[in-house]
Amino acid sequence: MIRLAGIADDSIVDGPGIRVTVFGQGCPHHCPGCQNPETWAFEGGLETEEEALADRIRQNPLAKGVTFSGGEPFAQAAGFARLAELLRADYELAAYTGYTFEQLFAMEDPAVKKLLSLLDILVDGPFVEAERSLSLRFRGSRNQRIIDLPKSLAAGRAVECTAERWTGIEN
Ligand code: SF4
Repeated sequence: MIRLAGIADDSIVDGPGIRVTVFGQGCPHHCPGCQNPETWAFEGGLETEEEALADRIRQNPLAKGVTFSGGEPFAQAAGFARLAELLRADYELAAYTGYTFEQLFAMEDPAVKKLLSLLDILVDGPFVEAERSLSLRFRGSRNQRIIDLPKSLAAGRAVECTAERWTGIEN
């Protein structure tokens, strides 16, 4: 089960192209200036089965990607990993997290490791008001990175994504 704060069926702000964004309910980070403080409480939201969520996502024929957001998706790593398993063959999968890649990579939690292994992109780090910029693509503050997860897991360190569709910067 995933405790859901909501779903955006055709988002264009959480990654390139038309995507379905799944907002998990519950976040431990409490970043000052957070746009979604209503997602902080862990007892809120609506519990939903992963299979039902995947079916709902597949109802949008235009979406080529799915983004997990929050709240903190890694606070529900087992549920989001199950959802990622169901979607992985058909969608580019991305997740926002208030943790850094290094923090997640060091966690011993098998569900966290599994979720990391199933995602294509991780946008990491807390929102930092002093680093806020409106010119960043798909990020709120300059400390956040768009990370290529398969390359990072293979290298054992954060490897930033260089694809223009994510960065807006031509190679
Ligand atoms: S991690 Fe995201 S949802 Fe959580 S407090 Fe920070 S900005 Fe808000």
